[in-house]
Amino acid sequence: MCFRIFPKIFQYTEDPKNLIMAHRKNGIIITIDGPSGAGKSTVAQIVAEKLGLLYIDTGAMYRAVALLVARSSINTDNDEGLERLLRTSTIKIDRNSNNNVKVLLNNEDVSDKIRRPEISRLSSYLATKRVVRNRLKVIQMDMGTKGNIVAEGRDMGTYVFPHADFKFYLDASLDERARRRWLQLNASGSRLGLHEIKSEIEQRDIQDKERSESPLHPARNAVIIDTTKLSTDEVVEIILSEVNN
Ligand code: C5P
Repeated sequence: MCFRIFPKIFQYTEDPKNLIMAHRKNGIIITIDGPSGAGKSTVAQIVAEKLGLLYIDTGAMYRAVALLVARSSINTDNDEGLERLLRTSTIKIDRNSNNNVKVLLNNEDVSDKIRRPEISRLSSYLATKRVVRNRLKVIQMDMGTKGNIVAEGRDMGTYVFPHADFKFYLDASLDERARRRWLQLNASGSRLGLHEIKSEIEQRDIQDKERSESPLHPARNAVIIDTTKLSTDEVVEIILSEVNN
C-alpha cells in the first residue's frame, strides 16, 4: 500500500502550479477533524503509519495545557496568567519505545494523566480561550513546517493548516460516539456510565462548535465521512483511496 501511494504523492507535490507548494516546500499535510468519539485518533494513527507520516494529536496538546493549568494556582479566566504559564512551559508530542504517541509536558510523560475525565472537561473549556489557541497554533504550525504530517483535531483543516493537501472531517451519531468512548474508558478501568459519558460528549460538542475561537466545523473542501456504521479499516480505506486518487 505504501509503495503504491508514495509515487503519486510526490508527483502531486512537485507540480509547480500547485498552490499548496507556494505555502509549503516539503511533504504533504493531511488533516482529520471532527467531534469527540468520531474515531479520528485511531484512524489518523493508522493512516500516518501506512503513509510513513508523523501523527500529530492536537487534542493531547489541549489536554496537556489543562493538566498544566490544573496543577497551577492560576485562575482559568486569568488570560495574562495563562499566557505567562504557557510561555514558560513546553508541550511536545513524541513516541515511546512501542511507537505509541507520548505527550511531554515540561519533559514529563503525561500521556496517561491527560486522559482523565476532569482533564477532558477542562481542556474543552480552555480550548475556547484565544490565548491558549494562539500558543498551541504556533507549536502546531511549527511541527507542520516540513509537512509529512497527519494532523488530527478540531480546527486543523480550517484554521491551522488551511492549505493542507487533503482534509477529512469524521463524524458519527452521538449514541455511537458515546458508546465508543464508554468502551474505551471501560477498558482503561473507568466506571463512568454510558449516560454520563453521552452528556459529557454533548457538552463538549456544544463548547467546540459554538465557541468564537476556531469553532469546530468541516472545512469547505473537506471530505466528510460518517463513521457511524463503518469499521476503522473501512474509514482508513476511504482516506487512503482519496489520498491516492
Ligand atoms: O480530541 P480530544 O478529545 O483529546 O481533545 C480534547 C479537547 O481539546 C476537545 O474537547 C476540544 O475542545 C479541544 N481541541 C480543540 N482543538 C483541537 C483539538 C482539541 O479545541 N485542534
